[in-house]
Amino acid sequence: MKQLSLFSGLEDTSPAKHVLVAKVVFESGPEGVFDYRVPKTFVGRIAPGQRIRVPLGKSNRFVVAYCLEICEQADNPQLKDIAAIIDEAPLVTSALLRLAQWMAEYYLCPLGTVLETVIPACVRNQAGTRLVPHYRLAPCSDGFPSLTEKQARVVAALLEAPGQRLSRDALTRTAGCTTAVLDNLVKRGILVKEMARIRHSQPDATTLPRQERLILNNQQQEALEIIQEAVSTGEYRGILIYGVTGSGKTEVYIQAIEYVVKKGKQAIVLVPEISLTPQTVERFRSRFDYVAVLHSHLTDAERAAQWDWIASGQVQVVVGARSAIFAPTPHLGLIVMDEEHETSFKQEAAPRYHARDVALRRAQIEQIPLVLGSATPSLESWYRTQQGELTLIRLPERIGGRTLPAVKPIDLRQPKHSRASRGVITRQLHAAIHEALENGGQVILLLNRRGFATHVQCSACGYVLMCPDCEIALTHHRSFSKVLCHYCGHEAPSPKACPECQSAAIRFSGVGTERLEAEVKARFPEATCLRMDADSMRSREAYERAFRLFREGKIQILLGTQMIAKGLDFPNVTLVGVVNADTALHFPDFRAAERTFQMVTQVAGRTGRGPHGGLVLVQTFSPEHFAIQSAVRHDFEGFAAQELPIRMAFGYPPISRLVRLIISAEKELEAAGWAERVARSFSKSLSQTGRPDAARVVGPAPAPLMKLRGKYRYHIQILGKDERLIRTLVRCGLQCLEEARQVSWVVDVDPVDML
Ligand code: ADP
Ligand code: ZN
Ligand code: ZN
Repeated sequence: MKQLSLFSGLEDTSPAKHVLVAKVVFESGPEGVFDYRVPKTFVGRIAPGQRIRVPLGKSNRFVVAYCLEICEQADNPQLKDIAAIIDEAPLVTSALLRLAQWMAEYYLCPLGTVLETVIPACVRNQAGTRLVPHYRLAPCSDGFPSLTEKQARVVAALLEAPGQRLSRDALTRTAGCTTAVLDNLVKRGILVKEMARIRHSQPDATTLPRQERLILNNQQQEALEIIQEAVSTGEYRGILIYGVTGSGKTEVYIQAIEYVVKKGKQAIVLVPEISLTPQTVERFRSRFDYVAVLHSHLTDAERAAQWDWIASGQVQVVVGARSAIFAPTPHLGLIVMDEEHETSFKQEAAPRYHARDVALRRAQIEQIPLVLGSATPSLESWYRTQQGELTLIRLPERIGGRTLPAVKPIDLRQPKHSRASRGVITRQLHAAIHEALENGGQVILLLNRRGFATHVQCSACGYVLMCPDCEIALTHHRSFSKVLCHYCGHEAPSPKACPECQSAAIRFSGVGTERLEAEVKARFPEATCLRMDADSMRSREAYERAFRLFREGKIQILLGTQMIAKGLDFPNVTLVGVVNADTALHFPDFRAAERTFQMVTQVAGRTGRGPHGGLVLVQTFSPEHFAIQSAVRHDFEGFAAQELPIRMAFGYPPISRLVRLIISAEKELEAAGWAERVARSFSKSLSQTGRPDAARVVGPAPAPLMKLRGKYRYHIQILGKDERLIRTLVRCGLQCLEEARQVSWVVDVDPVDML
C-alpha cells in the first residue's frame, strides 16, 4: 500500500488499471497465499481476518478462505472474483493471521488445522449469538411527513442510537411502541428492516475494589525500567526474569502492564492453567478495570463473549492459559508468560505448538516486548539469554528479606533413615512433620504418583498386571477398588487372584498418593489431611475449595502430586516433604534432571514465605545427583552450568533443535517397517544436502511407551542446529508415508513429551 502511494501521480494517466485485491489463504486445500479480486459490491466490506468464499481450480468449486490483506494492485485478467463474504467483521487481526502462517510452517501442520486452534470453534460458529431483526432509517428520506406521535418516537430513538440502528426489542422498548408500528414504517419506506447478530450473554467483567500499587524494591524497580524501556522502543524485545519464588515477579508484571495500558494498549498474561486460580485473577482485577479471563472451563458462549470483548479493544489485560496467546487484542503492547518452564504450555495435539515460542513469534510480528518469568527457567530460555537472544533480569532475593528455606536431602540408602515401619515416610521426615504440627505450622507432602499401588504383581508366578492396550503396568486405586491405566484410562476391577496362575498371592506394591494418604492418617490421626491429585480433584471447584481450606488453615497436611507444587503462596507452610525425588530422575527423557530440579525447587518455594521460615526434606536414593544437589543449594545457575554441557555432548535441545516423528500401527511389524523406511529416507535426503553432519537421525527405535491404546509405536528423532534443514528433511521423509495405509504418524516439533 505504501509503495503504491508513491505512484499516485501515475494513477491519473491510467486510473482504470488498479483494482482492490484480497490476499487469502484457504481453510483447507492448497497451502500458500492467493490473490482474488474484490468486486465493486464488496468494496469496503472485506478486511483482513474475515472469512470469504472463493472459487478454486478449474472446476471453480467454492472454498472458504481467510482474507490476510487488501491491497491495490494492477488488474490482472487471470484474477478471479471473490464470491461471497462469510463474516460481517474480522475474526482475527492480521497479526494473528501472520502468526498462524508461521505456525503452519514451523510446526509442519496444515494452515487449516492451525486456524482451528487460533480461532476457537465457538467464535467460528458464533456461539451465544442469534440473528434478530434490526431497524434503521432508510437512506435519504427527506423529512418525515405526517408521523404519528409513536412513529416520531421511533424515528427519534433511531436518530440517537449508535450507528442509527437498533434491534427490534431495543427499539420497541425505547419508543414505547409495538412491532406493528415498526412494520408500518418499513412499508412506508421510512425504515429498513435487516437481520443482524446479537450476543445474548455478556462477558464476565467483574471489577474489584482497587488495590494500591506496591512500592517496588530496587531490584524490582530496575526490572520494571528495563521492561518500560523495551515497551517504549516500539520494537520486539525478549526478556527473561529469573526470580526466585516470592521475589515479586508478579508485581513487576503488573506495573509494566499499567505502563502499557496508560499508552492505550493491551497486555496478555499467560499462566499455567493450574495457576489460574481466583487468587491470581483477583490480583489483576484489583489493579485493572477491564480484565478478561480465558480458562478451559468456559462455555462456548462465554468464551465467544470474551473473545468479542477482547477484540473490541476495551479489555486492558487478558489473563489466560496456553491458548490465550491467540487473544485478538487489537493493539497489543506486551506479552508476559509466568512460570515459563511449565510443560503445560506445550499443546499435545496438532499443531503441537509451544506457547512460549508462539509468544516470541507474536511479539516479533507485533513489534512488542515479551517477558518470560520463572524461578526455574527452562534451559531453552536460559540458553537464549546466553546467546544474547533474551535479556536476563535477575531477582535473586525474596521480598522483605525473607530467606529461602533450608533444603536437606534424606538418603534413603542409609539404614539409620530406614523407614520406621513399612511406609514411605522416614523417621526424619516423621519427626519433622510432628514438630511442624506442634508449632502450628502447615505441611506439604509431594509424591508424583497417583493411585494406591503403582503396580500389581503375583508373588507366586511374578505376573504383573498390564493394561491390555498399553505397555504400562496398571495402578491400583483403592478408593474405587479398581485398577487403572494412567495413559489410556482403561479400568477393571482389582483382581482377587492372579489372572495367570489363580494364586491368591496378589501383591499391591509401589506407593501412590492414596497409600501415602493412608500412611499419613495412620501416623498423624489428630491432624487434618487432604489429598490433592487428578482423582480427588476432578472439578475445578474441588480444586479451588481445597486451596481455600488450606489457606484458611483448616487443613494441616496437604499431600498430592505436583499439582500442589505450583506457584501458590501459603505463608504458614513451614515444612515441605518430597517423598520420592527419584520418580522423575529415572525417566527415559533427556530432560529428566531438569524436571527433577524444577520439581524440588518449585515445591520448596511453597515454604518459608511467612515469618516462621521453612524446611524442605527431600527423600532420595540419589542424594549426590547434581539435580538434587543444585536444588539443595537453590542454585539454578549451577544446575544449568552442569546440565548444558551434557545436552551439548548428546546434541540435545536447547543446543540443537529436535523433531520427533512417531509412527504407530496396530501391527508391530507395520509400524517398525514404515519407521525404517522413513528413517532411511531421512538419511538419504540428508546425504543429498551435501552436509551430512548438519543433522543427526536417531532411530528408528521402539518408543519408550511402545504400545499405547492398542497401537505399537516407533519413533525417529532428528536433531540439528539448522532448523530449516531439519524441517526440509522431515517434509521429504513424510512424503514416503503418503502410500502408508495402516499406520498413523505424529510430527512433534520441539517435543516435550518424550514417551
Ligand atoms: P513471585 O511472583 O516472584 O512469586 P509475588 O509478586 O507474588 O512474587 O510477590 C510475593 C509476595 O510479596 C506477594 O505477597 C506480594 O504481594 C509481595 N510483594 C511483592 N512486591 C512487593 C513490594 N515491592 N513490597 C511489598 N510486598 C511486595
Ligand atoms: Zn500368578
Ligand atoms: Zn492403557
